Amino acid sequence: MDSTRLSERHVMVKEQLEKRGIQNPWVLQAMLDIPRHFFLPDDQHLKAYEDRPVPIGQGQTISQPYIVALMIELIEPKDSDRVLEVGLGSGYSASVLRRVVKEVYAIEREPLLLEEARRRLERLPFGQIHLRSGDGTLGWSEAAPFDAILITAGSPRIPETLLSQLKVGGVMVVPVGNREEQKLVRVVKSSETHFQEKELMAVRFVPLIGTEGWPQ
Ligand code: SAM
Repeated sequence: MDSTRLSERHVMVKEQLEKRGIQNPWVLQAMLDIPRHFFLPDDQHLKAYEDRPVPIGQGQTISQPYIVALMIELIEPKDSDRVLEVGLGSGYSASVLRRVVKEVYAIEREPLLLEEARRRLERLPFGQIHLRSGDGTLGWSEAAPFDAILITAGSPRIPETLLSQLKVGGVMVVPVGNREEQKLVRVVKSSETHFQEKELMAVRFVPLIGTEGWPQ
């Protein structure tokens, strides 16, 4: 893997992730290995390892490194897992996920971002990530059920169709709130009809736009 800017990634992992309590060794290793700058537009390269979200075009952002690590840690990933990400964006968090689980499915509603991410991911040696363009609030029924679902955009509520595409015992992590501010929520599907929800920290994501998200 590209070792360029490795020293910046060491600092990012130590200062932004480990010091805030991220412990999953595979997540930490993946974020050390994967060149985050590779996922940013040229004019944003210098900001790749800063402790904040960065614009990726089309009014969208790549999430702060800590939030990427936290969301993946919260699903308690296992190497046999099949995981759906709604909000592929730059492809960075899907790449981190792909290093720690067996199969990743990712949906993006902005066609231009999807094509840019597809081109990047084809050049990375991580194995395939299944990509789809469209409204991720409706999920990916042909590939369901998933062990975990990550929603990397802010939703007005927990999208029910996505809950139905989660395995019993599976975990969803989703920011829920208004368009400006949300709470990160971890949902465990304890049976076909029962869910345990836990509200975690305050976060700020771009809106999840779609049938079970916000209107355009
Ligand atoms: N995970 C991304 C990364 O690593 O770069 C960052 C995701 S960005 C914060 C949120 C993304 O969700 C945006 O690219 C946006 O276009 C996308 N999005 C919003 N609503 C969506 C929907 N209904 N289905 C799929 N993608 C959606």
